[in-house]
Amino acid sequence: MSGLVYVDLDAVRLVVDGVAHRLRLARMPLNGERLVTLCRVEALAAFGWEPVNVVPATCGVCAELHASHRTAESARLRACAERVAEPTGYPAPAGLTHVPDQPSRGLRRPPQRRELTS
Ligand SMILES: [Zn+2]
Repeated sequence: MSGLVYVDLDAVRLVVDGVAHRLRLARMPLNGERLVTLCRVEALAAFGWEPVNVVPATCGVCAELHASHRTAESARLRACAERVAEPTGYPAPAGLTHVPDQPSRGLRRPPQRRELTS
């Protein structure tokens, strides 16, 4: 049996000189790959498997850029959803006054009330 290892790319940080920077990644970087952070710091990717004893500081510029990008993305998705929800502007088909609650599936008989006999 095998299991899929899932890595949230949005949670990946590049720590340079004790500061954790944000990246925009399409895939997990390779060891030694040149990376550029949101605030334009460049560094080569290196993976450490040892637990860290010091919590890196957060890069404020990266945090601000990431937040503004997420806000813009949310606004874009909201505008897209509102566009989908808008009426089409086309008139309803003639004679369509009632929309059935469920699609017809042949000649199915609706549930009937049963009389109890005892
Ligand atoms: Zn940064």
